[in-house]
Amino acid sequence: MREFKDIILKVAKAYPNDSARGIARLDPNALLTLRLSPGDIIEIEGKRLTAAKVWRADRQDWSQDYIRIDGFIRQNAGVGIGDKVKIRKAKFAEAQRIVLAPPSGSHMHYGDEAADMIRRQTLKRPVVAGDILPIMSSGTHPFVGRMEPVPLVVTETHPDNVVVVCERTEIVLLEKPAKSVRSVKATGITYENVGGLGSEVQRVREMIELPMKHPEIFQKLGIEPPKGVLLYGPPGTGKTLIAKAVANESGANFISIAGPEIMSKYYGESEQRLREIFEEAQKSAPSIIFIDEIDSIAPKRGEVTGEVERRVVAQLLAMMDGLKERGQVVVIGATNREEAIDPALRRPGRFDREIEVGVPDREGRIEILQIHMHSMPVADDVNLEGLADRMHGFVGADVNALCKEAAMKALRRYLPDLTSEDEIPQEIIDQMQVMGADFEEALKE
Ligand code: ADP
Repeated sequence: MREFKDIILKVAKAYPNDSARGIARLDPNALLTLRLSPGDIIEIEGKRLTAAKVWRADRQDWSQDYIRIDGFIRQNAGVGIGDKVKIRKAKFAEAQRIVLAPPSGSHMHYGDEAADMIRRQTLKRPVVAGDILPIMSSGTHPFVGRMEPVPLVVTETHPDNVVVVCERTEIVLLEKPAKSVRSVKATGITYENVGGLGSEVQRVREMIELPMKHPEIFQKLGIEPPKGVLLYGPPGTGKTLIAKAVANESGANFISIAGPEIMSKYYGESEQRLREIFEEAQKSAPSIIFIDEIDSIAPKRGEVTGEVERRVVAQLLAMMDGLKERGQVVVIGATNREEAIDPALRRPGRFDREIEVGVPDREGRIEILQIHMHSMPVADDVNLEGLADRMHGFVGADVNALCKEAAMKALRRYLPDLTSEDEIPQEIIDQMQVMGADFEEALKE
């Protein structure tokens, strides 16, 4: 018999502010049933077992049997949005030691303070060996450039099972991926990083994530998963972000290449490059090949030969036609000039699905602002809605740039004479806040 009662809940996306914090949101019913208080630790069991700290869900989520968890916890539990998980109150111990390593295919160099910084960031957080732990890396400036968490893999804990990081926990950092049982692929980008674009993400999930995770269903129903999906829309709207997120959430390898980068004047070189990319993708399947600016490989209009382009298009088509296991290697092309795509690329069995990724509306801008403010110390006087009202026409990349600019304004307020060589005193870093006025200043530019 189990010590603690368990219940089954349906997985939903985390609130933007909860991202990368190891938090699960439950409604009061679930808290009561499991005798939990906010701050307690729960076990979450999907295909894997992981742990999280619980908080109470917002009122609009009550009585829906949801558990809201971010992309990292979803990956740690081996589940996606809409899947069911079993949860129960966790039995845990204080961690004496945890060992962290970069995900497969990457290498890490840590600064002198890294272990202390990681301990501070993950204090009181539950971890299980095999988990991915998102770490906010601080850049040269305290809160500029730490938007995207760096995923590290917990390769070992002592004791084992669920442990909670505490002041005394020894943090061991490995520079190379551990040859662990589970090879972890991670871009660090999850659906929580994508603001607005709810229905676009939903379509990408149905087209790519579902067939990748459940090929058997598609086979049984006789539905052909796509080989190629085209994302089109203005620059900076989140096309690359969506592609990285869907790769991460499907547990797929992410191979990215810029269209212009493939184009080589030297005979055969572009084709060779494409062949290598497809071979790598098939070897490490499931994989997503992301081709940014795919329009650059379309033959230029008015040009008599367009020789290189024609060769590259032919090679790309041959590679896509040659993909055997449908749904396990998917090519995502991104462009802001869809009219410039070679029609041959659009035929069935090639880039035959397309999704428009447009400029965000007010609600979208609010969500994107929340995402980019998430890892900044933002003062209470910052008015999100007021800002969003005045950012008509801003795309996600503009919102990101604005937040970084506001942070720089704040930094200059505290340290007007700072040069890039100076060390920033910790007391100043601790008290820094980005204020409404900093955003106002940034908006003026
Ligand atoms: P695209 O591929 O459409 O040109 P990206 O996905 O590369 O644009 O976006 C560039 C950056 O702008 C992202 O890394 C992110 O910081 C920000 N960004 C763009 N769109 C969004 C969005 N919908 N939500 C959150 N951030 C966004």
